[in-house]
This record gives sequence, structure tokens and C-alpha cells, in this order.
Amino acid sequence: MSRATETRNPLGFLDEAMAQIRADGLYRTLRVLEGEQKPEARFDHKDVINLSSNNYLGLTTHPRLREAALDAVRRLGVGSGSVRTIAGTMDLHMELERRIATFKRTEAAVVFQSGFAANAGTVSAVLGKDDLILSDELNHASIIDGARLSRATIKVFPHRDVKALERLLEETSAYPRRLVITDGVFSMDGDVAPMPAITALARAHGAIMMVDDAHASGVLGKAGRGTVDHFDLHGQVDIQVGTLSKAIGVLGGYVCGSKTLIEYLYHRARPFLFSTSHPPAVAAACLAAFDVLEQEPERIERLWSNTKRFKDGLARLGFDTGISETPITPIIVGEADLAMRFSDDLFARGVFAQGIGFPTVAKGRARLRTIVTATHTEAELDRALSTLEDVGRTLGIIR
Ligand SMILES: *Cc1c(COP(=O)(O)O)cnc(C)c1O
Repeated sequence: MSRATETRNPLGFLDEAMAQIRADGLYRTLRVLEGEQKPEARFDHKDVINLSSNNYLGLTTHPRLREAALDAVRRLGVGSGSVRTIAGTMDLHMELERRIATFKRTEAAVVFQSGFAANAGTVSAVLGKDDLILSDELNHASIIDGARLSRATIKVFPHRDVKALERLLEETSAYPRRLVITDGVFSMDGDVAPMPAITALARAHGAIMMVDDAHASGVLGKAGRGTVDHFDLHGQVDIQVGTLSKAIGVLGGYVCGSKTLIEYLYHRARPFLFSTSHPPAVAAACLAAFDVLEQEPERIERLWSNTKRFKDGLARLGFDTGISETPITPIIVGEADLAMRFSDDLFARGVFAQGIGFPTVAKGRARLRTIVTATHTEAELDRALSTLEDVGRTLGIIR
């Protein structure tokens, strides 16, 4: 072996890539949570009002979910020991799938390890290289990756643009199979997809209709059943995806639809076939979460009253909160460095609201992304608002 080969670092190019990330001002360290995921939490040795989690209903620390998980650990251990299709399907997994199907009012449901796996695994299993995927430009990364894995042709329509979607559907009738796919609630803007119009178009053109309700489940619709319930589209949306990691407070993703769809995914969705199933504690905690959704409707009511209080406060202060209609409320400031400075100064003053810039959102539309939860107190929200006011004035974001 020559000296040159001995000393050459084949990953040396990553040093350059990281240097570029730093030069672009995009270098980030991970905020570390010390303790529980709660409305007031300790990150990086600092107590802050937490406006950055997806823990909409406060279920990450709910006593019933904890007890269910502990009981499952005591009875069943900590791991499932296999993928679902070999020896890793436990009765708890089947019970959770039946529970989710009942909740969403579909024939059947399948649980994946994450929402990401649910989207990527489903889109890539259902569509193939001769097919077409019509996708909203702000759809989640897991949809985009699933679409790429499918090798289908991908056409992106402008955000929530029903007319553009209609034109695309008219132009592409030669494809054997077409999928129309949208997020139900968009994760960076908090706006809601025009589901009735999109669903009607998909049906009129014989396309498969799929929605990703990661941010709508537990939030919109009766007892948090999602956008399909919110818009009363039961029976019209072929594939509904949801996550168990956000409002449900635990971990996982699921797909709901016909019995045939779910059986097909049991046979063809690669994360289902090739990655180990959830530990029993995860399935047990999720089951308890669905009990809580049905039995504690006041949580969703609190989520929405807190959302209104916080949004009204931001509007009164003169912040630009875009077109949000849900608990996800962006505070749009423009340039990425200003958003990051705003976020850092707020953190120093005890408010955690993540700054988000390009490429996650468009250039010039950098923002803080805030989410209030059902478990924030009014006092906490008011304190957050007054800190936002102080820091926003100091930085010239509001007058
Ligand atoms: C978070 C999210 C996912 C992924 O869900 P996980 O359970 O966290 O993997 C999928 N789609 C959307 C729209 C999301 O916001």
C-alpha cells in the first residue's frame, strides 16, 4: 500500500461540505431536552416556554400512556424481536390497527415504524415506473422520497392550486395510474389543503386520492379524526396517512384504506417487510392515546382555544402570521439570518421558537415556526407573547 492510499481520507469531502454549511450560516447544533417534553421544558440548561414541539395534546407525558407502556414492558418485554411479516406481529399491533381503522372509519389500517416510513413505503409500493404522481409543491419530504423511490413520473403543482391540478389531470389521461397527493395540514405554514375540491377532481379523473394527515390527526375533525372527517369526505379518499408521533404523542405512522390496500401493503411495503416492528410499549401507549382522544375531548378544545388566544395576540402585536388556520403558526420575518437571530434572542429570554429558513421554506420567507399545545397555560402563552413583543420590537420586526 502506498503512503498516499494510507493517508487519504475518503470522507474528506465532508469537511468541505460542512465548511460550506457554516459559510452559508446554516450550521446548527441540536438543542438538547433535559427532562420531559412539556410546555415549559429545559433545553440546553435553560428553562423555556416550549413553542416548538408537535406534542399538540400533551400526550407525551400523559399518565395513562405511561402506565400502558409500563404495563406492556412488564408483561411483554422491550422488543418485538422481528419484522411484522416473520415473527414480529404481536396481538397489540393487530389491536392498534383495528383501533385506528375504527377511528378513521375505514375498512382497515396498517401501522409503520414512523410517518416517514408510512408515506415512503406506501407511495413506492402502490405506484410504479409507468405511473404519474401529482404532488403539491409543499408536500412533506417523506412523500417526495416515496415518489422518487416509486420511479413514477412526478409532476408538482403549485401550492393548493386546484386549477393547476385540474389542467394537469386533463393533460395526463394517458397514464395507466395516477396518484393525487397532498398534505392535509401543511407543516410549515399551518394552512389546510382544499380537500373537497382536490378529492372531487381526483375522483372525476379516475385518479387515486391520498392525503397525509400527520398534522391534522388529533387536531381537526371529530375527536381529531383528521381532514377527511373535517370536510366530511368519508369513503372518497383512497389512502389516508397519519402519524402516531405528533398529537398521539408516541411514535409511528399508519395508512388507512380498503382491506385490499392494507393487505397489499402487508405484502409489498418495504419498511413493513424489512424493518422490525414497534416494541409492545409503543403499541400499548398508542392504544391508550386513542382512549384519551375519545374520553378527554376537552384537550382538543383547549388546543383550539389556546391557538386562538396565541394567534390573536400575535395579530394584535402586528406580526405576519401568513395564512395559517391551525395550531401551526409561522411568524414570518423575511431573511434567514433575522429569523435565526430572533429565535436565538427569544431563547435567551426563555422562549423556544425554532427559526426556519431556506431550503425548508422559500427564500425571503424565513420564519419562526410556533405550535401551541392543549397543555400550555394562558399565563405561559401571555408570557411568550410579551417576550415576542419585546424581542420583536428590539429587532425591528414589529413597531
Ligand atoms: C412529521 C411528518 C411526517 C413524518 O412523521 P413521523 O412519524 O415523524 O415520521 C410525515 N408527513 C408530514 C406532513 C409530517 O409533518
